[in-house]
Amino acid sequence: MSQDNCIFCKIASGQLPSTKIYEDDEFVAFNDINPAAPVHVLVVPCKHIETLSHCTESDSPLLGRMVGLVGCLAKDLGVSYTGGDTGFRTVINTGPGGGQEVYHIHAHLWPASARGAEWGNAAIFIGILLSNEMLGEQNQ
Ligand code: 5GP
Ligand code: ZN
Repeated sequence: MSQDNCIFCKIASGQLPSTKIYEDDEFVAFNDINPAAPVHVLVVPCKHIETLSHCTESDSPLLGRMVGLVGCLAKDLGVSYTGGDTGFRTVINTGPGGGQEVYHIHAHLWPASARGAEWGNAAIFIGILLSNEMLGEQNQ
């Protein structure tokens, strides 16, 4: 996707509306339009980079600051790791195989207790059940 018709470039520049929770010269963070959890924020660099696979070494400082910002926002949003079961997930989807829908690099931030994490655990559980079943069949 080119920069000219990129949704996240338009959100970053204010051409499209969003619920921004943070903004500086380099990044914007706003609520996901289709949240997977009560807290689901997208942290987006203003620079248009399509995917993590398009990054070069010169983008590393920017990527570092993006991850650092995720940690700071998690604190502000009250989903930081403070011991016990607390914590949050940070996901960067890359390419169709990685489930990327918007081709402007972004980090998802949501609490560890959110739906995505539960689905992940459910998938692992089903996987274990199926492999036990297959092992049972092999042993018969
Ligand atoms: P991806 O699958 O590319 O990692 O995630 C893209 C995310 O952007 C999805 O979770 C989707 O809900 C969100 N999204 C897509 N279009 C918009 C939009 O116009 N506004 C906002 N706030 N989020 C969007
Ligand atoms: Zn863009």
